[in-house]
Amino acid sequence: FVTNGPIADFLVVAAKTDPDAGARGISLFVVETGAPGLATRRIDTVGWRTSHTGEVVLDECRVPARALLGDENRGFAHIMRNLQWERLVMALSSVTGAARTLELGIAYGRERKAFGRPIGKFQVWRHRFADLASEIDAARSLAYHALRKAIAGEDATREAAMAKWLATELAWRVADESLQIHGGYGYMMEFPVQRAWRDSRLGPIGGGTTEILKEIVGRSYDL
Ligand SMILES: Cc1cc2nc3c(=O)[nH]c(=O)nc-3n(C[C@H](O)[C@H](O)[C@H](O)COP(=O)(O)OP(=O)(O)OC[C@H]3O[C@@H](n4cnc5c(N)ncnc54)[C@H](O)[C@@H]3O)c2cc1C
Repeated sequence: FVTNGPIADFLVVAAKTDPDAGARGISLFVVETGAPGLATRRIDTVGWRTSHTGEVVLDECRVPARALLGDENRGFAHIMRNLQWERLVMALSSVTGAARTLELGIAYGRERKAFGRPIGKFQVWRHRFADLASEIDAARSLAYHALRKAIAGEDATREAAMAKWLATELAWRVADESLQIHGGYGYMMEFPVQRAWRDSRLGPIGGGTTEILKEIVGRSYDL
């Protein structure tokens, strides 16, 4: 699954250049999408529909040596460095997205009346929103903490992984609760909350799944 793969002019491809060396035998190459042996196909997705996701097939695709990006056999290290930024960006954008989606839920809770009062004033919803607002602020602090470490040049592998899984899972929960308070309208395509619900579901999958990120966090404690 490659984001923007079907519309890209160039792809960065990680290929094994020393098959016996494991992670130390991977190199990065810049490959033009018109190259012989390379084919892309768009795949329909649940959310993120403004971003084309596609399949990339490489079959006997040959590239010149000058297509090498970075150092030979250091591709995995290059990917890992980039992944930290990807995780930070996903954590920060998830926090912002969650805050916006919560606003949608709260606004509907103020507007929609049932049993003689706005539904947001029922304690069950007031507390649910209080929980989510608190968690968003906590996730934002963690994401900023990870970002500060990364900008200072410190190793932020653990904090970026923590922030990414926490913020993306939270954004998904916020979207689910905000959809729920909309009742039936939440399930209708004409209300924007459904888009947040579909889009936020990618967060715990892309850029390292929650399960894999928890592995990274757990192993950072030598477990
Ligand atoms: C819309 C979209 C866009 C994407 N764009 C890109 C892109 O541009 N570039 C790119 O490189 N990738 C991209 N991806 C791929 C994405 O990073 C992977 O889908 C993701 O990392 C999960 O890998 P997988 O799909 O192979 O799942 P699998 O590895 O098959 O995992 C399936 C499930 O098993 C769990 N699992 C796997 N291993 C373990 C373990 N050791 N312990 C516990 N649980 C485990 C996973 O957490 C997951 O829940 C994209 C994916 C999507 C959906």
